[in-house]
Amino acid sequence: MLDCLAMNATTHSIFGVAALAGSFLLLGEEPPLYTYPVAVVAALLPDVDNPRSRLGNGLSRMKNPALNLLTRPLSWTLRIASFVLFRTVGHRTLTHSLLGVALFCLLISPLAPLSPDLVVALIAGYASHLFADALNTRGVPLLWPAGRSLRLLPRGVRSGGAAEFAVAAVVVVAAGLEIYALHPALFRALTFTSL
Ligand SMILES: [Zn+2]
Repeated sequence: MLDCLAMNATTHSIFGVAALAGSFLLLGEEPPLYTYPVAVVAALLPDVDNPRSRLGNGLSRMKNPALNLLTRPLSWTLRIASFVLFRTVGHRTLTHSLLGVALFCLLISPLAPLSPDLVVALIAGYASHLFADALNTRGVPLLWPAGRSLRLLPRGVRSGGAAEFAVAAVVVVAAGLEIYALHPALFRALTFTSL
């Protein structure tokens, strides 16, 4: 039931990249490349309140035992957070609200003096998730715990169908144009090597 009401992880990842590139376009700066995967992870984060989601299910086991040892604590933290959120407030509540965004900003604020770019990537990715879910049939409870869910389209985009694919395709094109505008040197190098 939860699956058919939620945008899939690929769609959220695409929105995360587009939001990151859009934010840096507005800032007039070229984002460091590491910010792209960071925005993708942040775009998946609000669904940690669903134990069946990509992150709520923990991280997949690594083949390398050393890497496995390093990632297990994070994996268990995600699983525990997922279980607690799902059992207390439920899916698509706190983590999908303005209150959730404020708490997330508070949580990552110690990173700001170390890397402002990292913080921009985390907030852009997280916020993009809420925007994408607001396009969905179920909408997002922005004012949770008060108020009704907000939906940006009259009937909303149904998950897993042609409409979600079409939305994702439009966002891919937009993200491609944004990245092209942000990294002209990178594109020149790619074109040069492919000749
Ligand atoms: Zn969601």
